[in-house]
Amino acid sequence: MNEIKVMENAKKENDHIPDYWTNHRTGNKKILVPVDQRTFKAIKEIVHRTWNEELIGKGLDAKGLEELNYTKLDVILVQRVENPQVFGNYQRAKNELLDKMIALKEPSRRIESIPGEKGGDPDTTQDLDDFMKRDLCPEINECYVLHGTKVERIGGLSDRGLNLRQADPNAMFGKGIYTTDSSTKADQYADSPVHRRPLNYRNKLILSRVLLGNVYLCKEKPRQDEQKLSGPPCLNCLKDMCRCNGPKFDSVLGERYLRFREFVTYDTSNIYPEYVITYKRAK
Ligand SMILES: [Zn+2]
Repeated sequence: MNEIKVMENAKKENDHIPDYWTNHRTGNKKILVPVDQRTFKAIKEIVHRTWNEELIGKGLDAKGLEELNYTKLDVILVQRVENPQVFGNYQRAKNELLDKMIALKEPSRRIESIPGEKGGDPDTTQDLDDFMKRDLCPEINECYVLHGTKVERIGGLSDRGLNLRQADPNAMFGKGIYTTDSSTKADQYADSPVHRRPLNYRNKLILSRVLLGNVYLCKEKPRQDEQKLSGPPCLNCLKDMCRCNGPKFDSVLGERYLRFREFVTYDTSNIYPEYVITYKRAK
């Protein structure tokens, strides 16, 4: 089957909430649902596999972490966010992206085939158990990525999804939602660099489904005085403020200092925060 057909089929199948969600069957309206053992194990594994002890405390956003003297993350609980309304927005965005690729007559360029890019799909997708990836659509680079956020924000994100208003316009790649494929990197954002929580505090990470589509690779660290990206650049002229009105990239892959990879999306509908991971930093 050619890729256009595959994308057309993906659109047809994208009309219901995932089969593995459990609440719609019981009529329960609870949004945060504990996952089964298999899912728990797979997500715990992905946190461990993408962890790198050597990089704790490395980088500007990692201030105050080295002093905590921890070596690993202990995953305590994993809950699925079963919010049909927020997921509906994501499904609409997925259909729009599929329509765009169908109109362009080709699927998104696979991440590993972007010139200069070696990592391929986010590690949080590559290393994830296959059963977790059954609903992903590789033709539009639909992936799982991690997002670190403060415990206080979790309630809002399960009700309304991730909120772009909280994004910092001065951040390196502009005002987007920043995600990563490294639990070491995501852990840096679980609390504030000026007020790190003590060991044993129950922090949270989010494992999200994201529509990366065509990914713009940004290898250079933008200079301090340089204009921040206002959104993903144009496929033709590579400018974010473009005059040629060409189709745009859908996301940005930043390889900050070549230490961690960050995947940035500029539309809240393109990301669905599906799993809330509760963990402790531990020795
Ligand atoms: Zn352009």
